[in-house]
Amino acid sequence: MGGAAAPPHGPVVHVVTADEQARHCPECGTQARRSKGRRVTRPRDLPVGGGRPRLVWTKRRWRCDEPACKRRSFTESVPAVPPRKRLTSRLRAAAGAAVADQGRTIVQAARDHDVSWPVVAAAFTDHAHTVLPAQPEPVQVLGIDEIRRGRPRWVLDAATGVWQTAVDRWHVGFVDLSGRQGLPGQVEGRTAQTVIDWLTDRDPGWRDAVRGHLDRR
Ligand SMILES: [Zn+2]
Repeated sequence: MGGAAAPPHGPVVHVVTADEQARHCPECGTQARRSKGRRVTRPRDLPVGGGRPRLVWTKRRWRCDEPACKRRSFTESVPAVPPRKRLTSRLRAAAGAAVADQGRTIVQAARDHDVSWPVVAAAFTDHAHTVLPAQPEPVQVLGIDEIRRGRPRWVLDAATGVWQTAVDRWHVGFVDLSGRQGLPGQVEGRTAQTVIDWLTDRDPGWRDAVRGHLDRR
């Protein structure tokens, strides 16, 4: 570098999947034999040595040949970067830990790690496995967010032979955007009524203290 200013980005790192498990269908576990081509993704990672490495990951797409499986095809994934996630697991964990262990607000942690606050809110709950308080402390700015807890589970209905979703894993998360409580509330469901019910359960003084909200659903 010869004393030049630090580059704004870290090195470009090209990655291919070495994990044999990545070839197995995430729905039924069958090992795939027929590839459907390739797809390039760019998951974000933690900064290393002052720069953020730019990952360029060439993934293969596969067909699932299991007749009973609902999934026709899938893109390979590894535990370090779960399916459909644009962040590596360690970046996500670091953002969650910043809230749980270092007392940052969700918004601060999101800014520090250059990710969105719903991502930090979800990472925080995964990190903390927190017991949510019955009555949260006052919140000035309330974030309302839809959180998907894992992927949907499918079960084969023996009578009809049809695969069906067993669990709808959507939750609504209530996020303290101005303070340090992280996620003072989380309830199952995703409807407006879910939000109204949770707010109705708070006492009037608590509701009056909320000066603003940001609904990201
Ligand atoms: Zn399958």
